[in-house]
Amino acid sequence: MTWLVIQPHNRRREFNKEVAHFNQVMARVLVLNASYEPLTIVSWRKALILWLTNKVEVVEFHSMWVHSAYHRFQLPSVLKLNRYVKGQKDGPIRFCRENVYLRDGHQCQYCGQRVPLSTLTLDHVVPVSHNGGHNWNNVVTACRTCNNKKGNRTPDQAGMPLLTRPYKPRWLPQREFAYHNEQMPISWGPYLGAVR
Ligand SMILES: [Zn+2]
Repeated sequence: MTWLVIQPHNRRREFNKEVAHFNQVMARVLVLNASYEPLTIVSWRKALILWLTNKVEVVEFHSMWVHSAYHRFQLPSVLKLNRYVKGQKDGPIRFCRENVYLRDGHQCQYCGQRVPLSTLTLDHVVPVSHNGGHNWNNVVTACRTCNNKKGNRTPDQAGMPLLTRPYKPRWLPQREFAYHNEQMPISWGPYLGAVR
């Protein structure tokens, strides 16, 4: 079956931009479990197959349409499985540096910046010297600058409020969700946020 994309603009340059954007962003569809937890990302073709075989319900749409000789569809952006799938993610999640970064979306929990992995650090919200624990509830992702600025103080003492209170996650986003946030369709935001 051949699928064609109906572009919203006629101008060629605009169209080329649309196609590039389509391939990078819109060609991908977020699949949620029946519980609304993000499971995976699939291509739009795979998404249409899931939809046409009644395995999923469409939760959000992209603004673009695809058509074949006989059918015309608005492209789904977020799908939800009709039946709950139990994954490996249901077990306890190991407390380690990489998983803390994943929980926090590789975002400094003080200034909100996403910085390269090599400049991320772990920060003990209540410093270890103040009896702060080395666990999910006291460790956050911080950029090097904020970590140095905060030093051996609590967020209150340093006047550096946290973006999110640290917590033990029940589920972690896949690496792909964490690393490519800037390319994610806006419509995915609320569903990835729901992970927290
Ligand atoms: Zn920072």
